[in-house]
Amino acid sequence: MQTEFHIGIDDTDSRLGGCTTYTTALLFQELVSKGFKPLDFPWLVRLNPNIPWKTRGNGALSLHFTLEEDQMQEVKKTAIAAIERNTDLSQRSTDPAVVFLKGLVPTPLSEFAARALHSILSIREARQIAEALDVETHLLKGPRGLVGALASIGANFCQDHTFEIIAYRTRENIGITRRRVNHDSVRLMDAMFRGLTFNNVDDETGRVLICPHGPDPVLLGIRGEDPASVTKAFNQIEIDEPIERVMIFKTNQGTDAHLGCLRKIEALRPYQSTVIAGRVSVPPRVLRGGHVIFRTGDETGSVDCAAYRATGPVRETALQLVPGDSVTVSGGIRPRPIGELTLNVEKLEVTGLVDTVLLENPSCPNCGTRCESMGKGQGFRCRKCKARLPKTSKVQKLELRKITLGAYLPPPRAHRHLTKPDSRNGTHRHPQFETKSDNIDQTLESLVSISIAS
Ligand SMILES: [Zn+2]
Repeated sequence: MQTEFHIGIDDTDSRLGGCTTYTTALLFQELVSKGFKPLDFPWLVRLNPNIPWKTRGNGALSLHFTLEEDQMQEVKKTAIAAIERNTDLSQRSTDPAVVFLKGLVPTPLSEFAARALHSILSIREARQIAEALDVETHLLKGPRGLVGALASIGANFCQDHTFEIIAYRTRENIGITRRRVNHDSVRLMDAMFRGLTFNNVDDETGRVLICPHGPDPVLLGIRGEDPASVTKAFNQIEIDEPIERVMIFKTNQGTDAHLGCLRKIEALRPYQSTVIAGRVSVPPRVLRGGHVIFRTGDETGSVDCAAYRATGPVRETALQLVPGDSVTVSGGIRPRPIGELTLNVEKLEVTGLVDTVLLENPSCPNCGTRCESMGKGQGFRCRKCKARLPKTSKVQKLELRKITLGAYLPPPRAHRHLTKPDSRNGTHRHPQFETKSDNIDQTLESLVSISIAS
């Protein structure tokens, strides 16, 4: 009898250029080549990006197979060996964990995974969950990777998901920061695959976004809606260095999955990813460095919201807010030294604009010229025809608001992995994008041919 078998992996990343996706790709291909049957592409699950002690990407990975009972032991052994082989345990920041779950993913694990997207979960809770659900855990060092390893198995991609094709460099090129990828071919690919891929290029600056800049083994990664599109897009790129291997991941990148929790302001805690809805209570002010701070309140309290310079349109919009405007603000909660909190804005939605009134001098009833003041409380006079209006006061005039209702995002170059780009808005997942296992087999074959061809 065949059973689902899930492997969760977290935090084998070191800041010096390890890459958990690479280790996972190796393991996946090893298992497939041994004849084990995958249920899906490897999953790359991004978790709460606002946790300061995790790398900015905060990614965890999981593999999903259908196995016979007597195959499980070998799969476990292979997995642990692969992680041990590819992890530099001397790295202080590396705390790899591998977990195994047999059978369907239980609801409490899905719920745990959902909270891992926007909250801080304790290792204690992770241990309890693992124990209660009979998840086998292997900690290669400390226990910190346990949360991510569990959450990567429990991830829910039903509402939305995307794919990323990642090409890896050969050993002799790892560490050379320049990647020999033809940028014009990337721009051409971007134009050809609009709507099917996203965040290839930052439109405003023309900057190519698919190549990382660090010493990690990733040559490039293309994000998109389905495995076939990212593969075709990849084949359009001119690459002038050898490729070690290529893998496609199913992922929650580009879905706003971390912004699914609307909280009251009194419930905000440091390092949450959150959404709040309220009204602007204190007008925006500009800090040194150009950052804009505005205060938003709901019936439970109020919080400072910070729109950093790099957020472009978010900052420009924030600057135009006035008290009374209705906003939905999404982002990460940071503690401030004095115990207060700041919401670092990742997305700003303006849902209501109040009328703002300008007070201006009356115009002359005789000639229509704008009058001038004769002093405080003294009324006005017309400079042109000398008419006097001693009893008149300033008149109110509706000011034209410079912003309109809508959602505002930073430019793609400032996006987090999870940020849903504008270009994906209105994207509804089509049944043809759903992965079936024959589809996986086909794509795997084409991946093998990509690796061989280069
Ligand atoms: Zn006049």
